Amino acid sequence: MEEITDIIVIGAGPAGLSAAINGITRGKTVKLLTNTESYLAKAERVDNYLGFHKIDGQAMMKAFTEHAEAMGATVETGKVSNIFPMKKQFLVNFGGDILTARTVVLATGVAKTKAIRGEQELLGKGVSYCATCDGMLYRGKKVAVYGLAEDAVEEANYLHEIGVLVTFIAAKERPEGLHDAIGFIRGSVVEIQGEANVRSIRYKAPGTKGEETALEAEGIFILQNSIAPTALIDGLAMENGYVAVDRHMATNIPGLYAAGDCTGLPLQIAKAVGEGLVAAQQAAKYIDEKKAQSNKEEK
Ligand SMILES: Cc1cc2nc3c(=O)[nH]c(=O)nc-3n(C[C@H](O)[C@H](O)[C@H](O)COP(=O)(O)OP(=O)(O)OC[C@H]3O[C@@H](n4cnc5c(N)ncnc54)[C@H](O)[C@@H]3O)c2cc1C
Repeated sequence: MEEITDIIVIGAGPAGLSAAINGITRGKTVKLLTNTESYLAKAERVDNYLGFHKIDGQAMMKAFTEHAEAMGATVETGKVSNIFPMKKQFLVNFGGDILTARTVVLATGVAKTKAIRGEQELLGKGVSYCATCDGMLYRGKKVAVYGLAEDAVEEANYLHEIGVLVTFIAAKERPEGLHDAIGFIRGSVVEIQGEANVRSIRYKAPGTKGEETALEAEGIFILQNSIAPTALIDGLAMENGYVAVDRHMATNIPGLYAAGDCTGLPLQIAKAVGEGLVAAQQAAKYIDEKKAQSNKEEK
């Protein structure tokens, strides 16, 4: 069985990279998982971060990443779709692979999408974020794939190959590479309907003056680059739309820390880096305290 990682850091932007470096500095094993590139890569010029003057975001991210890698961190690319807190550890669903960790640091930046009506209520009852994880449950059933991320076509094709009856919905033209047998609808999903389980998907197509159409489906895979923290982990407390943390960057879930833009304003690099440090140091402290406690109980 795979060994338990001390700290899984989700997101390799400034906050996550800082958390990884500081976890390693504290002698902990760290896994750094990330999806698309950091928001920072889009910055044309950054002037307010100490030590770097007139630097662009790409160059800054390169420097941050190289520093973390030189300290032994490796960035693994993929999407985390769920985190399950267990009694003594966390299970992290990373593109269908289940990883285990003693602590988790959320450094996911700001979620760039608003939840769809019905999404939260029907999560796990037909709403899924990961085709590789949940696809088998829908063999022979009608599902929609809402393609908001680059990997959506690949995931839709995978579902088709395992016998799921897929309709692909996207705001733009039919994407290249989508299997010919997969139905396509151009539109935006506005609501997911159903009581115990998903029953239908309502969408708006361009040129219909906002008219809504219903598509019968038993499931929907919403494939987007960012997932709202509350959808990642059940029961996570939020405040003004951001993850609620204390001064130790601890969330309301023991062993789960958060850092960077996901915890709120100001959405700035220096704050993200500082919070990453605090989160990793506190995660390390939490692990040490838990170990000392279990040693004491064993005696
Ligand atoms: C155009 C622009 C200009 C800016 N200029 C400045 C500036 O001059 N000065 C300044 O201080 N700040 C600036 N910022 C803000 C700065 O970029 C952010 O504050 C900073 O990047 C926040 O770091 P973070 O690590 O919290 O999040 P991010 O940098 O957003 O990184 C989050 C990472 O988490 C990953 N992720 C999210 N969800 C998942 C998931 N489910 N599974 C796996 N990975 C996931 C994302 O793919 C991303 O790589 C600017 C931002 C932009 C867009």
